[in-house]
Amino acid sequence: MAEINPFESLQEQIDDAAAYADVGDDVIERLKRPERVLSTTLSVDMDDGSIEQFRAYRSQFNGDRGPYKGGIRYHPGVTRDEVKALSGWMVYKCAVVDIPYGGAKGGIAFDPRNYSESELERITRAFAVELRPLVGEDRDIPAPDVNTGQREMNWIKDTYETLERTTEPGVVTGKAPSSGGSAGRVEATGRSVMLTAREAFDYLGRGIEGATVAVQGFGNAGSVAARLVAEQGATVVAVSDSRGAVYDADGLNVTAVKDHKRETGSVTGYRGAAEELTNEELLTAEVDLLVPAALENAVTVDVARDVRADVIVEAANGPLTPDADDALTDRDVYVFPDILANAGGVTVSYFEWVQNRQRFSWTEERVNDELERVITEAFGRLVETFEASDVPNFRTAAYVVAIERVARAFDDAGGNW
Ligand code: GLU
Repeated sequence: MAEINPFESLQEQIDDAAAYADVGDDVIERLKRPERVLSTTLSVDMDDGSIEQFRAYRSQFNGDRGPYKGGIRYHPGVTRDEVKALSGWMVYKCAVVDIPYGGAKGGIAFDPRNYSESELERITRAFAVELRPLVGEDRDIPAPDVNTGQREMNWIKDTYETLERTTEPGVVTGKAPSSGGSAGRVEATGRSVMLTAREAFDYLGRGIEGATVAVQGFGNAGSVAARLVAEQGATVVAVSDSRGAVYDADGLNVTAVKDHKRETGSVTGYRGAAEELTNEELLTAEVDLLVPAALENAVTVDVARDVRADVIVEAANGPLTPDADDALTDRDVYVFPDILANAGGVTVSYFEWVQNRQRFSWTEERVNDELERVITEAFGRLVETFEASDVPNFRTAAYVVAIERVARAFDDAGGNW
């Protein structure tokens, strides 16, 4: 099967929504491609004295609603087009939850597992040097994404502040609390997945309590989402990572699976599970809710035809191919899209940035309360749009809301000049 290009998927999603949105065709064209993309090669000293080259990118997709915002990913699959797509999804995500940001994304094409901590530090600082002219708390604000976290964000902040001879903690979010990070940021993506699932099951008149759940991907988003839906009374029967899946019809102890993964590097081999499954078996397991929480294109059209869940909440960015999305809509499976469901990460990034600018810290309770308000309001707006128009699904409803907000900001600012 031909590789699905995520940038083409993004453009297709915008075209699908354009038919329902009150936005001119010329502005739609503007909303389909990034404003600029940095492509750079980092030359970095390795521990053995050799020098290695790394391809790195930063795409600034759209800044009509505020500074560019989005994470930095370390993964061998990173390409220029993937980063462009991810940067576009950030624009529409920030617009769906109505936080005052545009969208960006960065990435380095390499597998961080093959490098020492000091090599990772030099790679990250080399990228931060390249990013220095582009970023700033009012320009472009990086954050964590796949395989990056507090440690990398602290290095980026330190490199930037050292070179600029200033303190500017809001230049990057997702930092450790000791470096200006926010309470609740690590859990925020998983928390918005839980909140979206809870609202979705309420909307469908069923309630999340007692729902059975499969989670594909057990990184930060997937593992926290699994734990929080279990705390809501759902039964998490299957979880997976890149090596395979574990299943138990009576429910898995999510915290114990997480401990097992921390110790062994994988969820596979967890003794408390009844069975091991392949990733594909997990995606098509007999459950009420499927949460894809790994990478793009995890659910292809072939898998989609066999999905037995009737609700999908996307924790990953772009986990369904466009054909899979269409097949699921045809089968009346409710898909609650990434740009709403995983928006908790960037929403709490926004709270972190607000706290940094005010040099004032919020309690975790305040962070979680404000996040709940943002996600439930955005969910309500999507439901309104879904019910008041002929859009075929919640993804298109989300894009209609988002595209209209971005286009409005562009128009109100006077458009081009
Ligand atoms: N990487 C996350 C995302 O895809 C968070 C981005 C941010 O906090 O800026 O939404």
